[in-house]
Order: sequence, then structure tokens, then C-alpha cells
Amino acid sequence: MGRIVITGGAGFLGSHLADAFLARGDEVVAVDNLITGDMANIAHLEDNDAFEYRNIDISDPFDVEGDVTAVLNFASPASPKHYLDMPIETLRVGSLGTMYSLELAKDKGARFLQASTSEVYGDPLEHPQTEEYWGHVNPIGPRSVYDEAKRFGEALVMGYHTKHAVDIRIVRIFNTYGPRMRVDDGRVVSNFIVQALQGDPITIYGTGEQTRSFCYCEDEVRGFLALLDGEHIGPINIGNDGEFTMHELANLVIEVTNSSSELVYEPLPADDPAQRRPDLTKARTLLGWEPKIQLREGLERTAAYFEAQLGAGS
Ligand code: UDP
Repeated sequence: MGRIVITGGAGFLGSHLADAFLARGDEVVAVDNLITGDMANIAHLEDNDAFEYRNIDISDPFDVEGDVTAVLNFASPASPKHYLDMPIETLRVGSLGTMYSLELAKDKGARFLQASTSEVYGDPLEHPQTEEYWGHVNPIGPRSVYDEAKRFGEALVMGYHTKHAVDIRIVRIFNTYGPRMRVDDGRVVSNFIVQALQGDPITIYGTGEQTRSFCYCEDEVRGFLALLDGEHIGPINIGNDGEFTMHELANLVIEVTNSSSELVYEPLPADDPAQRRPDLTKARTLLGWEPKIQLREGLERTAAYFEAQLGAGS
């Protein structure tokens, strides 16, 4: 049994990770400053003796007393809406926050898993994206506050590995969705489901022909654990390789929620990637992992969550 520090532990993915570690008997220290995380995501763990929450901003030096076996660095705004609203916080947490988290892992002799992103590939010119692709990122575009922070984060993690022999893992996360996304998250799956449930117009940005590949959170978290427990050091894509246009997604959401919402068209945000799909060869062969939950089922589960959230008036 281990003692696991999860930065961003009150966030969407961080809180699902906390559940997964607790379920297998590990102790969890969730660290968060709640700028996008939410105590509601971990409220069910309040009485669990194996769980602790600390309100810490990891962009300043921090410590966690006692033994730590692994540090999982999941703290960052992750929705374009949030990181565009909080550019400096996003750059700080991706750079300084990653460095202080690595310092903790170094001091404790703990394994370190970095939550990186398919955004390191930018608006990709190679399709699907393998881990060998270096990416196509605008370094001064509005999304760069996230993309470049995450790219710097990967470089920093590799630096701590080569200089200080920190035992590191890097996951490149492709669009992930599921319960505990915020109603106001701003990403496409939560936007479309909330709009469909409320009978509001579904906002398609651009033509709607751009693609994404959507992974359900439960599959994604199972991938994180396989990566952490495995021996592979370099980055690994974890996502679902089913690829959908935003039109296809909107139609599926309308079907699943039995909604009468119409589609409306809004401008495409700057540097919005035209296509994205993970090459999962490494995840399949090195980790024996693959996604199991297909989009329709994942959307049904997520819609049930948002229905309850909206019903509760949040
Ligand atoms: N998008 C959309 N309507 C929305 C929100 C997003 O059409 O209400 C589009 C967005 O322009 C992008 C895709 O959906 O092409 C995925 O956007 P998201 O913000 O979920 O994540 P990204 O993959 O861009 O980081």
C-alpha cells in the first residue's frame, strides 16, 4: 500500500484518481487550491481515514509531511475557457507548480506522474498523433499559455529524471469527459449536454467538421494507473481512438438526451485544432491498456450526472 499525493485532487480527473487509489487500498493526500477544483468532488471522501485534503497552491513552494510513494501532478485549469481566463495562473502551475511537485517527489524518493496533454501536438499536421510527433503549436497564440506550459512541464520532468534520477511517467491525455466536469466547464461535451438538457441551442464553433476523440473518465483513470505501475518512462498517449466531428457529437448528445435543441454556429476560437486522434499503439502494447467505454454509453452516464446537477440547482 502506498501514500499518494495528487495535485489537483479536487478536480475532475484528480478526484476520480483519488477514488481509484482508495479503492485499491492506498492512502491519498489531495492537494488543490480550488481555482477550478471543487470540494463537492471529494465530499464523499470526507470521513475516509485514508484520505486527506490540503488547500495548497503548488505554484509556491510546498511540503507534505510523512512518506510519499507517488506524486501525480494533475493541477491545472484544463478547459480552454478557464485557461484563457487565467493565463498567468496556468503558466505558473504548469511551470513552477510542476517544479515544486517534482521537488516533493525528489525529496521523498517517490515516483512522479505528469499529466500532460494532446495539446502538446497543437493543431497537428500528422494524423493520428503518435508520441514521436513533435507538434505544431503557436507559441504566442491564446492557447499557448496551456500548450507551452505543458510542453515546458514535460521538459522539466525529463530534466529531473536525467539530473536527479526521479522515476517519472508522462501521460498525454486526449479529450476526456464524464461526471464531475463542472456545469460551466466550457468544454464541448459538458457544454453540449447542459445545453441539450436545458433545451438551449447547441453552440457549434466553426463549421462543426473539426474532430476530437473522446475518452470516458473511468477508462482514462485506469490508463493512468497502468502507466504509473508500469516501467515505461517516455510519454504515452491515453485516450479513445474513436474520432468524431462536432456535428456527430452534437447529434449523439441530442439523441441520448432526447432533446429538441437546435444547432447554432459561433466563431471558431483562434488556433482551434482541426483534428485530433491518439495513436494508441504504445498504450496497447506497453501497458496492455485500451479504452472500453464507447461514446454513446459515456454520454449517457455523463448526461445522468448533469441531469442530477441541474436538478439540484447547481
Ligand atoms: N466546441 C464547440 N462548442 C462548444 C465548445 C467547444 O463546438 O460549446 C468545439 C471547439 O471549438 C473544439 C472542440 O469543440 O473544436 C473541442 O473543444 P474543447 O474546448 O472541448 O477542447 P479542446 O480539444 O479544444 O481543448
